[in-house]
This record gives sequence, structure tokens and C-alpha cells, in this order.
Amino acid sequence: MFTRRVSSLMILVLMLAAILSACAPAATEAPAAATEPPDVATEAPATEAPAAATEAPVEITDTELNVLCTPQEQWCQGMKQEFEAKYGITVNYVRMSSGEALARVQAEKDNPQFDIWWGGPIDSFVAAKGEGLLEPYDSPNYVNLIDPVKMKDVDNQWVGVYVGTLGFATNTDWLAANPGVEAPKSWDDLLKPEFKGQVMVAHPSSSGTSYTALATVLQIRGEEAGWEYLKQYAGQMAQYTKSGAAPAKFVGQGEAAVAIVFSHDIVNEIENNKLPLVLTFPEEGTGYEIGGMGLLKGAKHMQAAKLWFDWALTPEAQALGPTYAAYQAPTVKGVELSHPELLEVNLIDYDFVWAGEHKKEFVDKFTNEIAGAENLKE
Ligand code: PLP
Repeated sequence: MFTRRVSSLMILVLMLAAILSACAPAATEAPAAATEPPDVATEAPATEAPAAATEAPVEITDTELNVLCTPQEQWCQGMKQEFEAKYGITVNYVRMSSGEALARVQAEKDNPQFDIWWGGPIDSFVAAKGEGLLEPYDSPNYVNLIDPVKMKDVDNQWVGVYVGTLGFATNTDWLAANPGVEAPKSWDDLLKPEFKGQVMVAHPSSSGTSYTALATVLQIRGEEAGWEYLKQYAGQMAQYTKSGAAPAKFVGQGEAAVAIVFSHDIVNEIENNKLPLVLTFPEEGTGYEIGGMGLLKGAKHMQAAKLWFDWALTPEAQALGPTYAAYQAPTVKGVELSHPELLEVNLIDYDFVWAGEHKKEFVDKFTNEIAGAENLKE
């Protein structure tokens, strides 16, 4: 499945089908959906690369850059090296999950230690914008975006740098040992008795992945039915992890049967780490992330931060992902998708702004009423 090549036209057709099928009955209290799912898979590669404004500033005086990095470690490290090689600026980064990153940015509001925040679902950036933590920036490379309406803040405080869909990873050895049980194909399937104590997901207080799952359920079912579902879902959990991608690894190692994780992380575990996993998607619709980027207000190396910001919006930088085992889809034109099939699924019309504005409220409710955030598995 993962090696299948799909032509651009085919992808366009499939994406349209996905968008149409996303019009599944919306729950009564679902937020007014903002915009269409992103048109990420419709651009032809390379030859149509946009005229990107990639010129460096005339004189670069910053010699270092502090990056708050939220994707997987390998990609953070790769981007650091690539940027250093290209611009001769030393990059110091710290990798944190989205919830931790937001807490850190809030705590350092008056004396920011990071210059730029790169990666992690956009909900956290929307929340940070609401607290006045981000610096607006009108990048010349916004012209590269595939879908500027969906992928960029109206006030230029955040922008999308990748797209990823949520999926389920099921351990195939566990399935073989439990004949008659099938990998889940719907959110309801996760509540089946055979999966009691067998599901793993990160905790939404620390993980953007997990918060995307929570906000997806609330958008599909509406708030009242959604919270009811989440209580039952919590009863199925083996354990909550701190990091969003970790459950795929733990399930692959046999610690539980099913993980709820971004599908590109599942692909990484299957293709690179050879873990016995099968990827499925919930048929009634799945949520997706736009991975964000934003400048931190009061950044000490703003010039270098803007350089990274512009660079991260070039086809050249976004094409680097698969080199570092990151299979998210790009947000800019002119990059070939490494795994188009991850987008050929029933996507809900995920409302990022609504999810970001309610992040604190929903995380607090989940933590206080459903599952506390103590003893998260690392
Ligand atoms: N790692 C990868 C590969 C991701 O795609 C994402 C989401 O943006 C994250 C990590 C975010 O991590 P967490 O869910 O721990 O906040």
C-alpha cells in the first residue's frame, strides 16, 4: 500500500472524494466549520515550483538561533543541520511535545528563551496567539502555500508547515493471537470489549496528537455526546503516554493492541522500525493536524528566526522531511508527497481555530473529570 504511486490527477480526484465524504452527518453541537480540508495533494511536483522569495537578508548579524521544536527528534536534528549548513547560523533546539511547549512559552512570556517555535498541531499556536505570545510576520514566502486561507493565520501570527492525518495502529501479532478480532475501523470500534485495557494514546495535556483526537471526537459527535464517548474511551485505555507518537512504538512492542497516533508516525514505525503494525482509519471521519510555526514575541534573535521562518516555507526545506523519516504532507507547492495515501481518507472539516480557542477548557475538563495527567508513560 505504501509504495503505491498515484498520479496528480488521481490524487485530485481522491481528495475531492475525501472532501465530499467529509460531509458526513455532523453532530448537533459541532462548531461551525471554518473552511474546507486543505488542498494538500493537488499540486504537481518540482516543475511547478513557485517563485519563492528565498533571498537572505542583506547582512545577517545573528549568529545563533534557539528553536522550540515539536516534531520528532530526528527531524528536529536534521533541520538544525540543514539550516546551519545553509546559513552558517548555529541552531540550538529543544524537542518538546506540544502541550509542554505551550506551557514553556507561557512561562517565559517576559523573557523568551526561544526565538521560533516549529512544529506541532496548530491548535497550540492558536492558543498562544490568544495570549499574545506570538510575533506577527508577513513572510514573502506565504505565496508558496497551497491553501493560504486554511494554512495561515489572518493576522500572520502562525503558519502551517505540514499536514498529517490521525490513524489507528494495531499490533498484527496481537490480532493473530486473537482470531476473529479485526483492527478498528471506526471510533466506535475502539469501545468494543476486546479492546478493553488495550488502547494507548497520549494525554491531551502534554500532546498535540492526543488533543487532535479529543477535538476530532467532539467535532464529529458534538460536545455532549462527544464527552460521553470520551469517558467510555478512557475506560479502554491501557495507559496514557506523554508524547503523541510514543503509543505506536509501545503497541508495536506488544504493550497494548491499538494506538491512536498520526498516520505518518505509524508509517515510520512500520517502514523504518519494522514494527508489526497495521494502519487503519476511522471510516466516519478522522481529524488532521496542520503543523504550525510562529515567531516568539520578544525573541532575541529575530533576524535569524525570520530566516528560518522563510526557509521553512520553501519547497526545498519541506522536501527534506522524508530524509529524516518525517512523512507529513507539505503545505507549500512544488513538493512531491511521500505518502499520498495518508490523505486519501475521510477527513472531517477540522476547525483549528475552534479547537485552539477551547484548548485550555477542554484539556482541563479531560484532566479533571476523565483522566488525570499523573504518571504519563515516557
Ligand atoms: N511528532 C510528530 C511526527 C508529529 O507529527 C507531531 C505532531 O505535530 C508531533 C510529534 C507532536 O507531538 P505531541 O503529540 O507529542 O505533541
